[in-house]
Amino acid sequence: MDLTAQMLKRVVEELRVHEALKGTADREEACEKGESEKNWTKIDTPTKPSWLGSATLLGPIPVGVSNRHVHLSREHVEILFGRDYRLRKIKDLTQPGQFACEETVMVVGRRGVIPKVRVLGPERSQTQVELSATDARLLGLKPPVRDSGDLAGSETCVLVGPAGYVVLKEGVIIAKRHIHMTPQEADSFGLKDKDIVAVYVPSPERAVVFDDVLVRVSDKYALDFHLDTDEANAAGVKTGDIAYIIKQ
Ligand SMILES: [Zn+2]
Repeated sequence: MDLTAQMLKRVVEELRVHEALKGTADREEACEKGESEKNWTKIDTPTKPSWLGSATLLGPIPVGVSNRHVHLSREHVEILFGRDYRLRKIKDLTQPGQFACEETVMVVGRRGVIPKVRVLGPERSQTQVELSATDARLLGLKPPVRDSGDLAGSETCVLVGPAGYVVLKEGVIIAKRHIHMTPQEADSFGLKDKDIVAVYVPSPERAVVFDDVLVRVSDKYALDFHLDTDEANAAGVKTGDIAYIIKQ
C-alpha cells in the first residue's frame, strides 16, 4: 500500500487541528510525565493463590510500564529534526544508559495519527517504533509482537518531525513482554538468557499471570519486568508495582 500521499494529507489536517488544540496537548503531556514517576505500591509477600500448588514465587521484580515510543537512527534524527541535531535528554530510564528525550514525533498509520510520541535515546542503528495493540488499531497498522531489534518484515508507518518526515518501510512492532536482569540475578533465580517464564502480578483487583515472558540477561541491565500499557492496564499495575516469576 502506498503510504505517503494519503497519509501526508492527513498529517497536514492533523497538524492544523493540533495547532488549535495546543493548550490541551500540553496538559496531556504533563500527565504523561506524572504517570511515569515511581509510585510504589509494593506487595512484599503476596497471598499465594491455591492454584499455584507447589510452585514458588521468585522476586520481587519491579514492573516497568512502557508507553508508546520511538528509537531513532542518526540518519532519521537528522531528517526529522535537522542536520547535526542532537537529541536532548530529559530523564534517565531504569535501564542503564537509556533515557527519555525532549523530542517527540508524530506517528502516522493507514487510518490514523498519534501525535507527540516520545523519542528514547540513545540513537540506534535502526529506527524502531514500539506501540501497544490499542495504538496499532487506532493507526490502522498490524505490527507483529517481536523482541526489540528483530525488525525484518515488521510493520510500516510514517514519522513526522519539525524538519521533515520519514517513510519507515519496517520497524513498527508491539514489544514482546520481557524481564531485564543481571547475570547475578539470573543465577539466583536459576534462569538464563532467552528463557521463557510465567509472571504473576498480584494486583488487588485484576491479578494476572503473564505467560511467554522472555528473560533477557546482561550486566548492562537492571531488574525490571517490562510491559506495555495494554498489558499493564489489563493487570491493573503501574510502574513501580511488583511482580513474581512463577517457578514450577
Ligand atoms: Zn525492556
